[in-house]
Amino acid sequence: LVYSDSSPLRRLLHADATLDENGQPIRKKKVVVLGSGWSGYSFLNYLNNPNYDVQIVSPRNFFLFTPLLPSVTNGTVEARSIVEPIRGLMRKKGFEYTEAECVKIDASNKKIHCRSKDGSSLKGTAEFDMDYDILVIAVGAKPNTFNTPGVEEHAYFLKEAEDALNIRHSVIDCFERASLPNLTEEERKKILHFVVVGGGPTGVEFSAELHDFLVDDVAKIYPKVQEFTRITLLEAGDHILNMFDKRITAFAEEKFQRDGIDLKTGSMVVGVTADEISTKERETGKVVSEPYGMVVWSTGIGSRPVIRDFMQQIGQGQRRVLATDEWLRVEGCDSVYALGDTATINQRRVMEDIAAIFSKADKGNTGTLNKKDFNGVVKDICQRYPQVELYLKKNKLKNIAQLLKSANGEDTQVNIEKFKQALSEVDSQMKNLPATAQVASQQGKYLAKCFNQMEKCEKKPEGPLRFRGEGRHRFQPFRYKHFGSFAPLGGEQTAAELPGDWVSIGHSSQWLWYSVYASKLVSWRTRMLVISDWTRRFVFGRDSSS
Ligand code: FAD
Ligand code: MG
Ligand code: MG
Ligand code: MG
Ligand code: MG
Repeated sequence: LVYSDSSPLRRLLHADATLDENGQPIRKKKVVVLGSGWSGYSFLNYLNNPNYDVQIVSPRNFFLFTPLLPSVTNGTVEARSIVEPIRGLMRKKGFEYTEAECVKIDASNKKIHCRSKDGSSLKGTAEFDMDYDILVIAVGAKPNTFNTPGVEEHAYFLKEAEDALNIRHSVIDCFERASLPNLTEEERKKILHFVVVGGGPTGVEFSAELHDFLVDDVAKIYPKVQEFTRITLLEAGDHILNMFDKRITAFAEEKFQRDGIDLKTGSMVVGVTADEISTKERETGKVVSEPYGMVVWSTGIGSRPVIRDFMQQIGQGQRRVLATDEWLRVEGCDSVYALGDTATINQRRVMEDIAAIFSKADKGNTGTLNKKDFNGVVKDICQRYPQVELYLKKNKLKNIAQLLKSANGEDTQVNIEKFKQALSEVDSQMKNLPATAQVASQQGKYLAKCFNQMEKCEKKPEGPLRFRGEGRHRFQPFRYKHFGSFAPLGGEQTAAELPGDWVSIGHSSQWLWYSVYASKLVSWRTRMLVISDWTRRFVFGRDSSS
């Protein structure tokens, strides 16, 4: 029996695959996904299209629930409890997984170059190439040091599960070292000086967790050295949590003051050595150095080297972050999508497209728009340009018709000049989406839905406003839905800022915070583990072994 490409046996064996007219199995399109974090995992979780051959490449074989990462640093939650192995999902969905890092994207040959983790010991097999038809980049970002000298060498980052464990060991190590005999008071003070750099949500939450640990546990376990501990939080701007409502910033700053956390705003770190951290005060320009025991660096994120290199290749070298269009397709490159922290959406300006919008609305080519013409495009405009809705909301207008009326009075015939004038301020409301798990997971889900409907949409292309040179968009563009922001502040208190200007600070928000994040992506296994960690902490206190 010959098992050739056209043998009956082969046909039989491939009976479930779709065959082309010659009885050959159709080669499925190969989708390669880079990354198993918030955006990548969410994409894989919602992807249900049997016509793709899906391959995941990521250096870590688990998904990490980052919102609880700061709680790992002091042992409130175990690292094991907030990771979800991806192998289970892969098996269920029939996807392939390779544990490796992508080190180069070769978009012109539709290839990626990868390196597996322990490359040094496996000579020859450690590096390999992989082809793709469609590439989904979800590699996240790396901590940004702004090239501050000494940070890579001496500071801790808080990004991966490993980082949180390292921080935890180091904090306890500091207490053990400070408890050694024969130390001077000065030396103990230095070792127990914890410095947090960056007053964003992560830096603030870590400071709060560290403070809780000092108050709840250290006082009992290391009573002799407790008086020497100090936490300093350094922020270059005027306020911490500046992306939040002013009420939350004020509450957090006051709480930290009461807690005895030394909050220094307007001070920028200019260098870190093995023993000292130097800051420049913005007002006086003076540089001061202080001894420290441990520094945690949390000042924001930057692009990974593999992405920087890719941006050079596709003509995005001048940009700060990889840009996609509103359909999450990387600009300047075919069949490559990017989502999550690794990319930003290059939102179009209304003013850039104003002539096209006008002529699209002006069906009879009369040079003026009446109310009826206009109704046809309003929905498309709001879809494609989210700033329009934000602008209307800010100015308390119900719809674009009202906007035109407020600009042009009762005049119902609108020509292009009047149209331009009415919409001239709208672009001022353009905003980049924040680098959060909320955005990343929604983008993953959105892209999966597009992929799930790909065939249907290829047959019947339609969608909002299309402009010349853009091809045919078959899908609604990605739209972000904000469910609220949360800032855990320690002492079981969390500040919540919910849509509609709703601010809540207190104990109940703590639970709200967790349930919001845990509701979709995390398994029952993980939820059980976290709840049992919380219970254990509540009953027995935190684990202080390292
Ligand atoms: P990630 O989740 O970082 O995933 C990137 C993935 O790519 C990882 O699996 C990584 O291993 C893999 N990878 C890296 N390099 C490569 C490579 N070269 N090739 C292949 N794979 C690669 N957001 C919120 O909304 N709420 C919060 O409460 C919150 N708390 C946070 C707390 C902390 C401590 C941190 C660090 C972040 C927090 N965030 C929070 C932000 C949120 O975690 C990120 O916005 C989110 O993880 C971005 O998702 P992503 O998929 O882009 O990247
Ligand atoms: Mg990801
Ligand atoms: Mg993640
Ligand atoms: Mg990230
Ligand atoms: Mg992004």
